[in-house]
Amino acid sequence: MAEKRDYYEVLEVPKTATAEEIKKAYRKKAIQYHPDKNPGNKEAEEKFKEAAEAYEVLSDPQKRQRYDQFGFAGVGGAGGYGGGQGMSMEDIFSRFGDVWAGSGLSDIFEQMGFGFGGGSSRGGRRVRRGSDLRVKVKLTLEEIATGVEKKIKVKKLVPCPHCHGTGSEDGKTETCPSCHGTGRTVRTQRGIFGMMQVQEACPTCGGEGQIVKNKCHDCDGQGVKRDEEIISITIPAGMMDGMQLTVQGKGNAAPRGGVPGDLLVLIEEEPHAELVRDEGDLIYNLLLSVPTATLGGQVEIPTLTGKVKVPVAPGTQPGKVLRLRGKGLPVIDQYGRQYATGDLLINIGVYIPEQLSKDEKKMMEQFAESPNSRPGAADKKNFFKNLFK
Ligand SMILES: [Zn+2]
Ligand SMILES: [Zn+2]
Repeated sequence: MAEKRDYYEVLEVPKTATAEEIKKAYRKKAIQYHPDKNPGNKEAEEKFKEAAEAYEVLSDPQKRQRYDQFGFAGVGGAGGYGGGQGMSMEDIFSRFGDVWAGSGLSDIFEQMGFGFGGGSSRGGRRVRRGSDLRVKVKLTLEEIATGVEKKIKVKKLVPCPHCHGTGSEDGKTETCPSCHGTGRTVRTQRGIFGMMQVQEACPTCGGEGQIVKNKCHDCDGQGVKRDEEIISITIPAGMMDGMQLTVQGKGNAAPRGGVPGDLLVLIEEEPHAELVRDEGDLIYNLLLSVPTATLGGQVEIPTLTGKVKVPVAPGTQPGKVLRLRGKGLPVIDQYGRQYATGDLLINIGVYIPEQLSKDEKKMMEQFAESPNSRPGAADKKNFFKNLFK
């Protein structure tokens, strides 16, 4: 996969650009790289798609905010996820109708016969898009460490099995008699400069160009039904709480053969019983007994891949931090690629006994007489150095 360019860079706008500036910039790019203007030019097509992808994110305030915060990983661009940047030309044309309006681009489509429905010339026929679905997925730190495949059951609109999504009992659709299949009607109205022709979506067919006479009894001609689907989601390693992944085309089906919406997956992190996450690092608070801290020994530390034995040096002071390199979580960049692995940090504390028997008290009193029980100047210095480093 070629390296993705920053969305602002793609549209050549500053990070502070207004919605209107972003729209203008996209319109410019879309006209420049439009396939009709650059027939057979693969590079122009890539640029066209790149601009559409950038616009899709930056034109949506929520997506833009997540992109600003998390980069590509925040908007489903994480490596190998859900088909990556797989926006098809059909998606692009069906989604951004509002940008074409008034840009003269919709006319270009029409003239060039840029069909929405796979090759045939149907001009400005509107393609319906199903709505997006949102789901939350809880991940344990273990799952975040390795990445995980989750199967989730989603209630959604699916194409009606009886009519195969056509909405028609007999499978037949007819060309709309009002607009003759163009999906548009033209109205003449008086404007400041005289009579103007205004194009509108055909009210008879809702802009689809086709009508169903014999409606499917199962879905009442809608072409969609409520159902459940088990969807498998590949979640890359290193996700953070609040990130969102987009699985393209797994949202609600659109009525009568439109483009399905997306499935938006919000990541929630489940707290771990013993470890606390600090981005890529994990923190474990270890309380040593006075004898172990004094004499040294071995302790068991939980990690995400099981317990490990860690030696404790004699004379270990509270506040000391031990570091288990590479025992943390993958750290991903804005493209969703791992560039580092965090550490597991062991914060050491020492448990001071609260109850002592008579004999134990006597032992402590005896020990208190030894100068070894008290910090020397050097020890004091070390203690505070460890505490505040
Ligand atoms: Zn049906
Ligand atoms: Zn019509």
